[in-house]
Amino acid sequence: MARRRVHGLAAVVTGFTLSLSAAACGGSPTASPWHPASPEASASATTAASPSLDPSPSPSPSPSPAAPSPTPSRAPTRKPTAKPTPEKAGFTIQRTTGSSGVALTFDDGPHGTWTPRVLDALKARGVKATFCLVGTQAKGHPELVRRIVAEGHTLCNHSWNHETKLGTLSEAAIRANMQRTNDAIHAAVPGAPIRYFRHPGGAWTAAAVKVSRQLGMSPLGWTVDPQDWRRPSASTIASRVVKNTRAGGVVLLHDAGGDRANTLAALPTIISGLRGKYRLIRLPDAH
Ligand SMILES: [Zn+2]
Repeated sequence: MARRRVHGLAAVVTGFTLSLSAAACGGSPTASPWHPASPEASASATTAASPSLDPSPSPSPSPSPAAPSPTPSRAPTRKPTAKPTPEKAGFTIQRTTGSSGVALTFDDGPHGTWTPRVLDALKARGVKATFCLVGTQAKGHPELVRRIVAEGHTLCNHSWNHETKLGTLSEAAIRANMQRTNDAIHAAVPGAPIRYFRHPGGAWTAAAVKVSRQLGMSPLGWTVDPQDWRRPSASTIASRVVKNTRAGGVVLLHDAGGDRANTLAALPTIISGLRGKYRLIRLPDAH
């Protein structure tokens, strides 16, 4: 049965999207088996909020940026210094919420120590967020997957074992990895919607974007990356987020992959700072 998915996200383009070279979410210098150091880890330690950081053209301003675009987005001329990106191959990654609301996203969990604390902090403040789960972690902590869903947060697939090179594999291998992860999540929460996929390390390829969409998941990026995985101070994390977030922004944070005490400690300031200007939302399950 044909299914038409409308993504709505590129409609809200605020001009501060992040360069694909972002290092985040991929790497912890101290590493875990599923969170190896990223070769991109030397990239900018600030955020994606500068328009000058993104050499790629803005997503189409079309009000209905459905997946199959009637006109290819491949640019007729390419800047000689621009890195090829999935966008330029005719794909679009979701980097904004699709509304004026701002989304907090937490990657790499669920983690037995940090995820419950993050959930507590969100619950205490009435904030719904989005959790990008690693399959092996979901398998190991089904009770936390259930709690994430029970407390009203949105699910996102973050690969089976945080494979930063996933997108370089065959489409069949990419599909198997994504499906295995969804299956692990659904073992804990049968039937729960998983409408997003975030590539580890932001290392998108056209194949990863394609397969993600085939499985009904919007390829999810971010607009603000405070590089919390590098464990800067809580005040630094919070100030980077609050300073660089704009309407429609997607904030990248981590609830696993290492000691997340600083991220946790930053949350009250992040939430209060953003709430002064924006509505904090979970990413919608329908698109
Ligand atoms: Zn990650």
